[in-house]
Amino acid sequence: MEDRPDIVAVMVGVAVETPYSYRVPPGMVVTRGSIVAVPLGPRLTLGVVWGAPKDMVAHNRLRDIALAYDIPPLSEELLKLVDWVSRYTLATPGMVLRAVLRSTEALDPPRPVIAYRRTGHEPEKLTPARLRVLDTLLDDMAWPKAALVGATGVSPSVIEGLERAGAVERLEMPPPPVVLPPDPDGAIATLSAEQQRALDEITALDPQQFGVALLDGVTGGGKTEVFFEAVADTLRAGRQALILLPEIALTNTFIARFTRRFGTRPAEWHSDMTPAQRAKVWRGVLDGSVRAVVGARSALFLPFRELGMLVLDEEHDGAYKQSDGVNYHARDMAVVRAHLSNARVILSSATPSVETRNNANAGRYAHVLLTSRFAEAAMPNVTAIDMRVDGPEKGQWIAPQLAREVFAALDRGEQALLFLNRRGYAPLTLCKSCGHQYQCPDCSAWMVEHRFRGVLMCHHCGHEVRTPKVCGQCGDTESLTAVGPGIERVAEEAAARFPDARRVILSSDMGSNAQLRERFAEIERGEFDLIIGTQLVSKGHHFEKLSVVGVLDADLGLAHGDPRAAEKTFQILTQVAGRAGRASKTGKAFLQTYHPDHPVMRAMVTGDREAFYAHELMAREAGGLPPFGRLAALIVSANEHEVAMGFAKKLLSAAPMADGVRLFGPADAPVAMVRGRHRVRLLAQSGKDFDLSGYVRFWLGSAEKVTGNLRVQVDIDPMSFM
Ligand SMILES: [Zn+2]
Ligand SMILES: [Zn+2]
Repeated sequence: MEDRPDIVAVMVGVAVETPYSYRVPPGMVVTRGSIVAVPLGPRLTLGVVWGAPKDMVAHNRLRDIALAYDIPPLSEELLKLVDWVSRYTLATPGMVLRAVLRSTEALDPPRPVIAYRRTGHEPEKLTPARLRVLDTLLDDMAWPKAALVGATGVSPSVIEGLERAGAVERLEMPPPPVVLPPDPDGAIATLSAEQQRALDEITALDPQQFGVALLDGVTGGGKTEVFFEAVADTLRAGRQALILLPEIALTNTFIARFTRRFGTRPAEWHSDMTPAQRAKVWRGVLDGSVRAVVGARSALFLPFRELGMLVLDEEHDGAYKQSDGVNYHARDMAVVRAHLSNARVILSSATPSVETRNNANAGRYAHVLLTSRFAEAAMPNVTAIDMRVDGPEKGQWIAPQLAREVFAALDRGEQALLFLNRRGYAPLTLCKSCGHQYQCPDCSAWMVEHRFRGVLMCHHCGHEVRTPKVCGQCGDTESLTAVGPGIERVAEEAAARFPDARRVILSSDMGSNAQLRERFAEIERGEFDLIIGTQLVSKGHHFEKLSVVGVLDADLGLAHGDPRAAEKTFQILTQVAGRAGRASKTGKAFLQTYHPDHPVMRAMVTGDREAFYAHELMAREAGGLPPFGRLAALIVSANEHEVAMGFAKKLLSAAPMADGVRLFGPADAPVAMVRGRHRVRLLAQSGKDFDLSGYVRFWLGSAEKVTGNLRVQVDIDPMSFM
C-alpha cells in the first residue's frame, strides 16, 4: 500500500473472486484487515481491506469507502485462512469472508447500560411502587435499569417518574463483559496417572508452535478432563482457546463441566444464540476480552487474534462437515488455522476418523492414548444377534434375546436403550392392493410416515402430506401398509412389550433443542427406564444407570455405496454401545445384524478396534481412497434430466488431462432428484499429493459456462455420497 495509500483493495462479502478497488477518503485510516462498509451497486456492503489494489484504476472512477469501523483489524492469519479455505473448497473468498463477518451488530460500539442511582432528594409523592424502588437503591449503588425492574417488579415508567421528580439520576455505564475470563487455576482436576501422562504428552507440544495431538480414548475414559487442563495450559500462556463440539445446542452438561473447572461459563457460539449474544461474543473474541469459546463448527471463523489452542471433541463426527454454501470440513480447516496461528490442536475421539488415525500412524500427529475406562467401568460386552437365525417374529423389530436383556435390566432398576437411526414411524408406505409406493413428488425418495404428527414426510426436502386413508392410486381402503421400522414404530413395540417401563423417545423431531435438553436432564436424573432414540443419543451424554443397549439395525449404515460406510457404522456403533455401563456397572450391548461376519461387526464383538482400523486402512489404500487418495464430487443439477446429463457430458469431455487423475461418471447421483432438480454426478479421484482443488478449478474455468437453471456444486473431500 506504499505507492497509493489512498487506494486499497476491499474484499466484499458477496460471491466474487477478487477484491475491488476503493478510495480512502481524506482523514480515514485503514490497514490490511480493517473492516469497512463500501458502496456496491445501490447499497452499502461490508468488506475487509485486503491490501494494495492489484491494478491501477483511474482514480476518478473509484468510489470512496463509506465507513471504517472503530474496531481492531482482522488478524493476518484469519485473512490467510479465508484465502486458504476459498482456494481449497472453490468457494469464492467473498463467500468465505461472510462466515467471518456474520455479525454486523458486533461492529458498532457496544451500547452503554442505563443505570439509576439515588440523588438523596425525596420526591413529593411517594407511592408503594416508588418506595420499593428507593428502598432497593438505599445503598447508593447504581443499578442497571433492567435489574432494578426485575428486583422491584415495578414498571419502567415508575423509575422514569422518579427521575423526573429528581429522586433518582440516570447514568450510562459501560456494558459488562459477555463472560468473565476463565481461571486456568480454578478447580484443577485430579487426574489419574494415565490422564496425567496423556496431558504431559500434549503439553510437551510447544504452546507457541503448531502441533496436533490425537487424544484417542474410549468413551467415558476421561478425555474431557485432559483437554480442559491443556486449555488451562494455553490460557496460562496468554493465548485464547476454542473448543468445538458437534452438537453444542444439546450439550448443557459440557457447559456445566467447563464452568466448574474454570469458575465461569465459557463464551458460546451456536445457532441457538440471539444476534445480540453473538455480537457480544464476536466482539469479545476480537478485542481479546473473551479468552475461551465453546462452539459449533462455524466458530472456526471467529476473529481470534491470539488463538493458541483448538480442541475438536468427537473429531470423527459428520457434523463437522458443512455441506451447503462453503463446503468445508471443520477438522481439516482447524488444522489449517492452527498452522497459520502457530497453535496447538487436540483431536479427541473414541473412534478417530480413518484420516486422523493415518496421520497419527505416520507420526504427523502425536498419538495420545487413554485406554483404561474412567471410574473402573469396563467396556461394554458386545454381542451380535444374527437376525437370519435369531430375529424377531414378522412385524416386530426387537429380537427375543434383546427383549430378555431389557427386561432383566429394568428388573434391576437400571436403564436400557433401544437405538435405531431412523426418524419417523416407517420409511415406506405401500399399497397392498396395487403396489403403489408413496414417493416424494420432488425427490427420488420415499415419503416417511410420522405417525405422531399424522403426516408422510420427505426427509430430503421436507415436503409433507396428511397420511392418506385410501390409496391414491387404486382407491382401495384398508390397503395401505407401513413397511419397515422407524423410531416411532420401535416405541410402539416397546410400549406393548414393556408397558410398565417409563419410556422416552429421543429424536430430532421430538421437540426443540431446549425441550430435548430437558429430556436428557430427566434421563440423567433417572426419571426414565427405557430410552428409545436415534443418533441424537449417541453423543456425549452420561446416563449413569444405563446398562443395556440394543442396536436394532446395526447394518443400516452399511447399505450405501459410500466409501466411508464401514467407518461411519463402526463409529456410531461404538458410540452407542459405549453408552452402556458408564459409571460402575459393566454394560451390555446387542447388535441386531444380518451380516455378523462383516469386519465392522467382528471388530465390535471382539472389541478389537485396531483390527478394524488395520482392515479399513488396507481397503482404502487398495482403492486409492482417502487418506491415500483424494476425491472431489461435482454435482450438476438442472430442472430437466437431459439438461443436467448433457452438461455433465460436456464437462467430462472438457476435462484436462492429468497424470493420475481418474474421472467417473457422469451418472445419476444416488439421490437422483432433490426438490425437483435432477442431479448428475461426476467424481474425480487423484493421488494424495495432487492438487485436486487446483485441477477442478482449472477444469471448471476452461469448460463452458453454466447458464439457465444449471448449477454445478463442487465438494472437495466429500463426506456424503447422496
Ligand atoms: Zn393401491
Ligand atoms: Zn422431497
